[in-house]
Formats: sequence, C-alpha cells, structure tokens
Amino acid sequence: MAGKAETTGTLYLVSTPIGNLEDITLRALRVLKEADIIAAEDTRQTLKLLNHFGIKNTLVSYYEHNRAEKGDYLVGRLLEGKDVALVSDAGTPGISDPGEDLVRLAVSRGIPVTVIPGPSAVIAGVVLSGFPAGRFAFEGFLPVNRRARRERLSAISRDTRTLVFYEAPHKLLQTLKDLRDALGNRRAAIARELTKKFEEVWRTTLDEAVARYENEPPKGEFVIILEGADERGLREDEIKCWEGISIQDHVRMYLDSGLDRKEAMKKVADDRGISKRDVYKSLIE
Ligand code: SAM
Repeated sequence: MAGKAETTGTLYLVSTPIGNLEDITLRALRVLKEADIIAAEDTRQTLKLLNHFGIKNTLVSYYEHNRAEKGDYLVGRLLEGKDVALVSDAGTPGISDPGEDLVRLAVSRGIPVTVIPGPSAVIAGVVLSGFPAGRFAFEGFLPVNRRARRERLSAISRDTRTLVFYEAPHKLLQTLKDLRDALGNRRAAIARELTKKFEEVWRTTLDEAVARYENEPPKGEFVIILEGADERGLREDEIKCWEGISIQDHVRMYLDSGLDRKEAMKKVADDRGISKRDVYKSLIE
C-alpha cells in the first residue's frame, strides 16, 4: 500500500460510521479493501459494513477480552510486513474502545501507525450541544466502581470546560443522577442516536433529564454533554475559602499553590484590601 515502510507493515486506524453508512470516507473504503488484515472489535458489525460496500477481506477479531493475545498476533503480522486496518464497533478506534492498546503496542515496536479520520460520537455530540466547543474535556465512560466514580467526579467538578461523557442506555439514569449529585443541576445536552433515523439532541438540565428517564426507559446510544463549572461561582468560592482563616494561613495557602513568598504576600494583601506591610507585620508577630 502507498506510504508503506520497506519491511514493516502499517497499522491503519480506520474510522467508520456511528450510524449512517454514508459517513464512511473514500480513503477508509480503499484502506479496508487493500489492507492485508482487518482487525475488528465486532466482526459481525464490520462484516455488515464490508458487505454494504462490496468489500471482501480477511477479518480477525480484536476486542476487550482477547486484546492481549490478538495484540501480539497482529504485531507479529505487522512486523512481517502485513498492513493491518483496525476498526472498532463504530466511530474512531481508540476512543473508548480497545484500539488504544494496539496503538501503544505498535508504537513500542516501532511500527508505523496512521489514521483515517472520520466520525466519532464525542465530536458529533460536542458540536451539536450548543455549549462552548473551543475547550472541552472528554471523560468517556465514568468508572463503574462507586468510589472511583466519586473520585473522578470530584476531580472534574471545578473544570470550567464543557464536559462530554459516553453512557450505555441501561446505565444512563444512574449516571445522570450521579452527575447531578456531584456537579449540581447543570445545563445538559443529551445527544441520542446521532446520525441515525431517531437522532435527537435534547438541550435541558440534569434535573429534567433525571425526571424524564425515571419515567421513560432510555433507548439507543447516548452522549451526555454538560456545561463546565461556572468560573464566576468558582472565584466566589475562592473568596469564601480564605474569609475565615488567619493572615498566616492565607499566605500559606498561596505558598502551597506554588507562589513565592513575595507573590503570596501581595495576593493576600490584594484579597484583604490591606497593605503588604500589614501582611508582613502579622507574619512576624
Ligand atoms: N469509538 C467510538 C467513537 O469514536 O465514538 C465510541 C465507542 S464506545 C464503546 C460507544 C459509545 O459511544 C456509546 O455507548 C455511546 O455513548 C457513544 N456513541 C456511539 N455511537 C453513538 C451514536 N450514534 N449516538 C450517540 N452516541 C453514540
């Protein structure tokens, strides 16, 4: 194939549609046709795609529970000079699916890796949400373990960027409740069945979303997009956080955040509306 190294094959990360088959790219079709092997997360799903476009090729399954042995097998073929096209169930391989392991393995063995960009539910969801798309944080699936989930939610609770999550329909309601309890009743966009017949983008709040799905079992595939934490609210919190503490502890707070002594004293003086001399005096008292 074009761009192939002399002896080693290339790993092609091939994005495929997240619903509408017309979203496949011409390059994706060519690579799926020309690759020596297609490694697919769900071979039945990929076979449907290949049949639709009249492509016949060798399919090998590569998914969550066989990725260790199949990863080694695929790297072996790549090192022999075979080109491997990796496709996930849908969308871009490596985004919340086992693709990233194969990429890591290939990179560690010096195998050329390239991408055929295309659909991904995260990008489709964020641009449709109506929330700022210039800065966003993709959180994928939240951890299932309760404690790990609480820790993750606490870590992102002050993030001012738009937040994007994936969720399976049967876990959607619990996740919406956890998001609301940890992050407050934020504005939310619930993007469902993107690019498919029943595509829906519901711009709402977490409270309303919980209320709806308590009465109606969620169906289809979902991306949850939330507005980021309110920057002004966070600044107000910061003001509150030093109001009850001594000048010494207030200076320590800034030293701990990485400022040097002079900068910390200036910040404390500014916060409290007092002179730097007064800050200095209370430190040596
Ligand atoms: N690699 C894929 C990508 O690039 O988007 C994501 C794979 S992940 C295992 C599957 C999750 O993506 C689903 O549970 C859902 O949250 C989201 N998703 C995939 N297709 C979607 C669609 N058409 N509409 C809404 N969400 C979708």
